[in-house]
Amino acid sequence: MNVLVINCGSSSLKFQLIDAKSEEVLAKGLCERIGIDGRLTYQPEGQEKQKTDKPMPTHTEAIQYVIDALTDAENGVVKDLGEIGAVGHRVVHGGENFAQSVIVTPEVKKAIEECNDLAPLHNPANLIGIEACEKLMPGTPQVVVFDTAFHQTMPEQAYMYGLPYEYYEKYKVRRYGFHGTSHSFVSKRAAEYLGVPYEATKTIVCHLGNGSSVCAVMNGKSVDTSMGLTPLEGLVMGTRSGDIDPAIMEFIAKKEDLDIAGIMNVLNKKSGVEGLSGVSSDFRDLTDAAEAGNERAELALKVFAYRVAKYVGSYAAAMNGVDNIVFTAGIGENDGPMRASICEYLGYLGIQIDEEANKVRGEEKTLSTPDSKVNVLVIPTNEELAIARETVALL
Ligand code: ADP
Repeated sequence: MNVLVINCGSSSLKFQLIDAKSEEVLAKGLCERIGIDGRLTYQPEGQEKQKTDKPMPTHTEAIQYVIDALTDAENGVVKDLGEIGAVGHRVVHGGENFAQSVIVTPEVKKAIEECNDLAPLHNPANLIGIEACEKLMPGTPQVVVFDTAFHQTMPEQAYMYGLPYEYYEKYKVRRYGFHGTSHSFVSKRAAEYLGVPYEATKTIVCHLGNGSSVCAVMNGKSVDTSMGLTPLEGLVMGTRSGDIDPAIMEFIAKKEDLDIAGIMNVLNKKSGVEGLSGVSSDFRDLTDAAEAGNERAELALKVFAYRVAKYVGSYAAAMNGVDNIVFTAGIGENDGPMRASICEYLGYLGIQIDEEANKVRGEEKTLSTPDSKVNVLVIPTNEELAIARETVALL
């Protein structure tokens, strides 16, 4: 069965058509500037990218162009819509309603809408994508895979904030965690790769990309993760602050004459390694700048590594030990020097890294030496494939 995987943002839409049996990507692409003007990038497997400007007033037109491209007589990869067996949608926030992926029903859509408050930038866009697909592909099953679902196994001591309990009861203020599809995929794959039972292993996954989070996976279940009610908590990220003293918000609001929206904008978009360095949120730029002697770029890299190492240490404590530490996503898969900086803090766990192995980029590899007490690995994430697998499993 071919599964169309859709990741819908407010003005963009990423897609991949995956043959679920061979797990081959048949075609992939991106619709951008939806609601502004519109551009479709389409790439059939093994061919060049094609970019075309197309008017996309709404997501419905965008998805229509995706279907047209996939079924096009010349450049398409399937004959007609009948060859697309299902659609798998990435949905950011499932709140406490969803611990698993589900087939879309009117009740499911209502429950996703109820989480709009918790992810105002993402959930409404995700729903629009689902409804556009329902309209254009009636009869094709739609499945939703939640970023939060994998973390629903966290125990209450991990997900409760030290806030008045009534905020949890009234507004469901608690920690949810994100990147669940990636943490689940990568931790499972690490166990397969090592030939150990997933249900009897302690793994810490470091998903380090534009947005970054760490997850403690014990016996196949997420028991803690660094993002919280929203993806702002935890690590220092590209432009997000991660954990700060909450009192900073009032302090800076007064000094800089900012309202709460202004402060949130600073914490989400002007902080992180970009805010620290004043250079960039991209780790390639930061590394270049640091090598050229830029001290703030060097500081940003040091702060990033230190925060990751602190989370790894706290999750080793939470699980009373750790068997595997896995690096994934853009930075985790590609940035050897950053992996080495993080691992330098972890000598007390008996971790030793093979410098040669740590040169790897974007492929599965063991970085630890044979006598290291903990396996350290790179496992590339593949959220689209994980969504396609979930979709097929559900159907
Ligand atoms: P997203 O969260 O947007 O999916 P990615 O997982 O693609 O992000 O990660 C993007 C980040 O990965 C970039 O900002 C960049 O800092 C980092 N990155 C990608 N390739 C490299 C590389 N070769 N060396 C260092 N960092 C890299």
